[in-house]
Amino acid sequence: MSKIIATAAIRGAHQLVKQAEDTLGKVIDKKGKETPIAYPNTAYYLPIIYLFLGQKVEKLGDLVESLDEAKKLLTEIPSDKLWLPYLGDTLDSGVATLIAEEIIESLKFIDGPNPINGIWLSFTDDSILRLQGIKLVDGRMPGFAAIVGCTKTNEEAVKIVRGLQERNILVFMAGHTNGRAIAEQLAEERIEMNWDTFLVPYGKEITAAVHSLNFAARSAMTFGGIEAGDINAARDILLYNKDRVHAFVMALGKDKNVNHDQLITDEKYATAAGAINFGFPVISDVDLPQILPTGICTYEHVISGIKIDEIISRAVELRGLTIKLEEIPIPVPFGAGFEGERVRKEDMYVQFGGKYADAFELLQMKSMEEIEDGKIEVIGPEVDDMKEGGAYPLAIVVEVAGREFQQDFESVLERRIHEFISCANGIFHMGQRAIIWLRISKDAQSKGFKVKHFGEILVAKIHEEFTKIVDRVQVKLYTDEKEVKKLLEGAKAVYNERDDKLGGMTDNDVEDFYSCTLCQSYAPNHVCIVTPQRLGLCGAYTWLDCKASYQINEHGPNEPVKKGECLDETKGQWKNINDYIEVKSNGNLKKFNAYSIMEEPMTSCGCFECIAAVVPEANGVMIVDRDFTGMTPIGMTFSTLAGQIGGGVQMPGFTGIGKLYISSPKFISAEGGQKRIVWMSKQLKEEIAERFKAQLEQLGISDLYDKIATEEDAEDPEKLVDFLQKVGHPALEMESLF
Ligand code: SF4
Ligand code: ZN
Repeated sequence: MSKIIATAAIRGAHQLVKQAEDTLGKVIDKKGKETPIAYPNTAYYLPIIYLFLGQKVEKLGDLVESLDEAKKLLTEIPSDKLWLPYLGDTLDSGVATLIAEEIIESLKFIDGPNPINGIWLSFTDDSILRLQGIKLVDGRMPGFAAIVGCTKTNEEAVKIVRGLQERNILVFMAGHTNGRAIAEQLAEERIEMNWDTFLVPYGKEITAAVHSLNFAARSAMTFGGIEAGDINAARDILLYNKDRVHAFVMALGKDKNVNHDQLITDEKYATAAGAINFGFPVISDVDLPQILPTGICTYEHVISGIKIDEIISRAVELRGLTIKLEEIPIPVPFGAGFEGERVRKEDMYVQFGGKYADAFELLQMKSMEEIEDGKIEVIGPEVDDMKEGGAYPLAIVVEVAGREFQQDFESVLERRIHEFISCANGIFHMGQRAIIWLRISKDAQSKGFKVKHFGEILVAKIHEEFTKIVDRVQVKLYTDEKEVKKLLEGAKAVYNERDDKLGGMTDNDVEDFYSCTLCQSYAPNHVCIVTPQRLGLCGAYTWLDCKASYQINEHGPNEPVKKGECLDETKGQWKNINDYIEVKSNGNLKKFNAYSIMEEPMTSCGCFECIAAVVPEANGVMIVDRDFTGMTPIGMTFSTLAGQIGGGVQMPGFTGIGKLYISSPKFISAEGGQKRIVWMSKQLKEEIAERFKAQLEQLGISDLYDKIATEEDAEDPEKLVDFLQKVGHPALEMESLF
């Protein structure tokens, strides 16, 4: 470590600790030590402090202790003559810095849960963390960049973030250079910044950079099972993040006329030292003293003086990221960073489907001879013939053929159409089957985007992702109203046929279940066993998806597991499945029951769509989805619950589940099935209503739907029991759960 940097970092740490002390003192004078302090919607208290100190900060007075600990980590500022051979003191000052920054940032929440200020989003709550975590897990995001400062021109700023978005790298932004921040430059250029576009502006001050590290810290605690406050926590976090979270800091602030010392402040050096504690290297366009030998970070700690044009590729190298850039012949950028982007009405050139016109998408298997590979036809008007602001019908008909292709895979591929099309910059796509809605933005239209480009995207992506099973693809795009109407009927018949077939498939019908170990990159002891009647808890993998995924890549995350001898029909336990999970969970699990919540239930990694939990007072279970931020009748929010059940451990009474499983005939059948459900978050209850009611009808208990409480009926166990008694809920009469 260069002594210049070490000196600056330690000096910066002293300044930030002082700033935290001053701010805290003022707030305590005004509010008193007993005033509660918390970030919204997290089970990890103030995560950085919780992680490094094991301290559960709940009131202002607690922060005084945190601050004392930070001070202990501060060493004296070394004189310039002193040579520091190792990073030790600097790293400690990095931790002190992060603690101080967390104090400063958390105090912004003293008056309420929402200090969002203009473009700045501040703290990331646990539900977003989990949602985005899944993308880091499945590789949709190779890593994240924390950008500090700004670029010389807005054009350069746009170029950098577009480059990162195209590589699917999540971008956090904090801090400024001489009063200017990159997020402000992007806002001037009307770039949409939020979690959906992978561009997250945390705050203008450098202290807001702590939010990206507390995101990393919680990922490690949520998915990696790292224990907060453990004596080794700091080391474990370092190892976890270094190996699994491919992040780097990009410190920008090149200006030929100004000495670098003015651009990279001591506070920034101190924050960088904090990031190095996580194994995140620093890359800069400014000439900082470089730190090349490796050790803490996998590669160099700091590399600097990099030209803006090269900074992304150098960062990617530095972090050892493997990224392939998509080459699709369309006139707009393409990448997962654009997947969640919306096209607002004012920015829209034309739209298809939605509530304005008929539209659907259908993917079907054909014989080889029927397909001319790569052929794209537009039947009806092209974008050039459409009126600005208009709504048009659209049918996207994709035909594929392949020696290894099976009809069952049609729906698996069809469901990916949404993701593929959405990844084009300036294109919005929602829904599936006959409820799709698309928009082309004015910007995309002016760059030359046309209907035929939907076809280009699909041909390229299907070939790329499904090369093992698809040999030929062709796409027909119908915009002619009569044609669309005519074809729609046929498509609906196909959808129905598929549903009947899949809906009729039971766990007893198949020999093999499938495993999914995709989440092991984050939760090393977790395995999902996916059956026809219980999909993966993330909701993204059905049994058919896993089967297709296995055919595509035998060495991928899914493989067939023979059920073998059935040990318990009702609870759902099989000998071979037990043996398999014992090996795959690294010996942590000996057995599990697919259909029980009370006895050896399936484990959870962290990306569950919903959590089912026993409500002892009601002799039943409640189900809460991740979008519900309110209180559940067991006195815990989704976040708190999620914090307790993730990480691949078995927790009787709790289980993470996919939404579809709630309507499955095998839903906790060991405990009596749907009859046990006493509470659901309202939005979830409405969302699954159709399938769920059909299942209740099968069971001959259609009236149960209205007997299930939501947050509008009860938020605590007493009120819930009152409600259940009033409506005569069957759970009250069922065999006791304990
Ligand atoms: Fe993760 Fe399970 Fe979903 Fe696979 S099925 S991605 S292991 S949650
Ligand atoms: Zn997972």
